[in-house]
Amino acid sequence: MSRLNRRSLSAMAAAAALSVCCAMAPASASAQAYPSRPITIIVPFAAGGPTDTVARLLAEAMGRDLGGAVVVENVGGAGGTLGAQRVAVARPDGYTLLVHHIGMSTIPTLYRRLAYDPVNGFEPVGLITEVPMTIIGKRNIAATNLQELVALARREGVNMNLANAGVGAASHLCGLLFQSALGVQLTTVPYRGTGPAMNDLVGGTVDLLCDQTTNTTEQIRGNTVRAFAVTTATRLPSLPDLPTANEAGMPGFEVSVWHGLYAPRGTPVEIVNRLSTALQAALRDPNLMRRFADLGTEPVAQDRATPAAHRAFWIADVERWRPVIQTAGQFAD
Ligand code: ASP
Repeated sequence: MSRLNRRSLSAMAAAAALSVCCAMAPASASAQAYPSRPITIIVPFAAGGPTDTVARLLAEAMGRDLGGAVVVENVGGAGGTLGAQRVAVARPDGYTLLVHHIGMSTIPTLYRRLAYDPVNGFEPVGLITEVPMTIIGKRNIAATNLQELVALARREGVNMNLANAGVGAASHLCGLLFQSALGVQLTTVPYRGTGPAMNDLVGGTVDLLCDQTTNTTEQIRGNTVRAFAVTTATRLPSLPDLPTANEAGMPGFEVSVWHGLYAPRGTPVEIVNRLSTALQAALRDPNLMRRFADLGTEPVAQDRATPAAHRAFWIADVERWRPVIQTAGQFAD
């Protein structure tokens, strides 16, 4: 019997039991009282990285709308799959949520075996933002622009280290695209998130990182790393001196990282809708909008912060990335 059928059968059994004991109780009592205790957002990467930054700004703003605490817990490791698994198997009561990114589209193809269902394990609540990526290196790397970096990477090959947040991370995807565009293989160094990866890049332990502006803007402005390009079609107002990859000699190298909010599969629709309303309110929050703009991004349009828009976008995106990943041929087991 499918998981869904088992679930609906047990839901029917529970509903039957309830109708015997509490025939007068309103059907959506739990949704009406929601939330009555703190909500936890799981971030599937280490603290201090880009997903963490987005989730913490969101948690604060959603907490204001929901009238209760929304806390963030970091469950990093295995390219974001450990944290996602935690949410997929959590009680579907609206108190355990997930903020994840484009990895939700690549992981179903990248991983041949997972202990959770990477698509059917979740209820999408709404999209949050799309974040540009930047290609950056350690401060004293022997290249001053993208063309020199390309030549250096081709010369050095596996002697050059490329940090990422594990197979399934956005930094992994960007690194994969970078290596296949150049036709080289570098040595990848996986971290539990690009927060810790950034520490090592600033310290000079690793050579290269492709990461989101929500993690790289302040380092680029502070000159603690060397920035080569941004992966959007046009330059960013927040980093006006940084050329696009198109301008800097890698035409067509464009990738941005969408983020979404999820609840476990089976979360009551009233609760998912309440969360979506709170998400939309958070995305209008002036403090969140200011911080997003400063970090090179912006909230999605309000009509994309809905369960239906999120689901349609996500499912299409899984199919969009499937052939790209199959061609690149880098899988996790
Ligand atoms: N989002 C980052 C990545 O996918 C990791 C992180 O948030 O730390 O590379």
